[in-house]
Amino acid sequence: MSNLKLCQGTDCHTYTTKDRLKGSKDNKTYQTRRRSSFYYGNGNFCSLNCQNDWFNDFGTRAINHFGRLTEPKHLTEDNAWSKRYDWRGGSDDRTHLYYFINQITDERRTITEEQYDDRNYTLNTSGQ
Ligand SMILES: [Zn+2]
Repeated sequence: MSNLKLCQGTDCHTYTTKDRLKGSKDNKTYQTRRRSSFYYGNGNFCSLNCQNDWFNDFGTRAINHFGRLTEPKHLTEDNAWSKRYDWRGGSDDRTHLYYFINQITDERRTITEEQYDDRNYTLNTSGQ
């Protein structure tokens, strides 16, 4: 029971679906959903609805807290690298080809699967 996560949606308990109705026979209430995993909002919400409810209540404060964008970002050669993969579907060689592609210059650089999976691995030298 303690391994279950609660949906972080601020109004989750107000959606009167059968699966939210919990409790003993004469004392049932609609409750926040509890599951081992959720699909929305990095695993924090049971539905897009609940994710939107949370954002409507807290989104502006969250953006202000973590840093509101005050200038437009610019895509340049220095930050235009993004990870991609191609399915190499040969009959005996069924692996992916992983690479970086620069969206400005179209240059491609092959990388390993480990580099592809490493979220911190980048060729970008600036965040702008
Ligand atoms: Zn929910």
